[in-house]
Amino acid sequence: MENLAVQDSPAALLRREGLEALVRILRAGGYRVLGPVLKDSAVVYDELESLADLPEGLTDEQSPGSYRVTKDGSRRLFGYAVGPQSPKKYLFPPESRVWSARRSPGGMEFEAGTLRPEKLAFLGVRPCELAAISIQDRVFLGGRPPDPAYKARRGNVFLISVNCARPGGTCFCGSMGTGPEARTGYDLSLTEFDSGNAPAYLARSGSDAGRRVLDSIPRDVAGPGDIARAKKILDDARGRMGRSLETDGIRETLPGRSDHPRWEITARRCLTCANCTMVCPTCFCSTFEDSSDLSGNGAERVRKWDSCFTMDFSYIHGGSVRRSAASRYRQWLTHKFAWWHEQFGTSGCVGCGRCITWCPVGIDVTEEIRAVCRGGGPEKGAKP
Ligand code: SF4
Ligand code: SF4
Repeated sequence: MENLAVQDSPAALLRREGLEALVRILRAGGYRVLGPVLKDSAVVYDELESLADLPEGLTDEQSPGSYRVTKDGSRRLFGYAVGPQSPKKYLFPPESRVWSARRSPGGMEFEAGTLRPEKLAFLGVRPCELAAISIQDRVFLGGRPPDPAYKARRGNVFLISVNCARPGGTCFCGSMGTGPEARTGYDLSLTEFDSGNAPAYLARSGSDAGRRVLDSIPRDVAGPGDIARAKKILDDARGRMGRSLETDGIRETLPGRSDHPRWEITARRCLTCANCTMVCPTCFCSTFEDSSDLSGNGAERVRKWDSCFTMDFSYIHGGSVRRSAASRYRQWLTHKFAWWHEQFGTSGCVGCGRCITWCPVGIDVTEEIRAVCRGGGPEKGAKP
């Protein structure tokens, strides 16, 4: 990772052959290229061999507790919003080995987990996902010492962001200040727009590595008309957020509302299934499990995602300190929107909307915050 900063670099114009070359060059440079693919009826990150793997002409319809991929009749490659996964799956995997050990004639031999990870290039990273990566950077790299496995993975990453032309029905990045346009944190940034009968891509580099890659693929100089078209698409997207949230005062108000009746009302619906924390691109809680094989010759320690919604998570000798669904939901929401600021200097929410879409009972964080902090009622621009 180098020189990830806001850059107003000159814009280039890419067409399909430029994007093809981008994937080819990154693969030739030893990167495993991950991008959006349709799998199990959802758009998820998976390995790309060529542009043919991308979800061409597909979009998604999202609402609380509901997600559906549909065709939009276009040739766009990035016409969807976000799927259930984010780059978190690769930078902070759901399960990773911390160490393993084997008995040998000289004693136990220990081997550390993933400290020499593969080079990963992500194509199609949304601005809210870039913001989530920067939040996880603070969590995992801001401590003393930093998390060595995360540091090793993160140092081997090339990020190609694609700005959002079509926010989803549960997106509210506009309220959280994280989208729909990426300002920082990328190596390359693309904006997809229709040009003739095929999409074109306004491209900017955000790092030296990005500039080198951009210079090596077929491209044109973007004209004022291309720049204006891309700008209009993002201006329109700002006005088409599926949801909105007035953020002023939340972090000050929320901690003082621990006795609000809304927590119990929501707990009647909440299944404490932890889906919201699993899909959230910033949630970082984990647990460690040790195991040994039956022969007694091998052992390992594995790190797994955990969630503040499980009873075990707050188990201190004798029992869990958060026994009720209300206390666990309150903990999650208050940490995300208030205490996270004290810990990491930022909100823990980037407004991606995943926790709303993938909550099986459709609990909506924007609605919950409004009810607890402002006495309820829909905000301007919020859809029912
Ligand atoms: S809020 Fe929804 S997704 Fe989260 S634990 Fe409760 S039921 Fe599951
Ligand atoms: S709390 Fe919900 S909307 Fe916010 S970042 Fe996490 S999943 Fe996205």
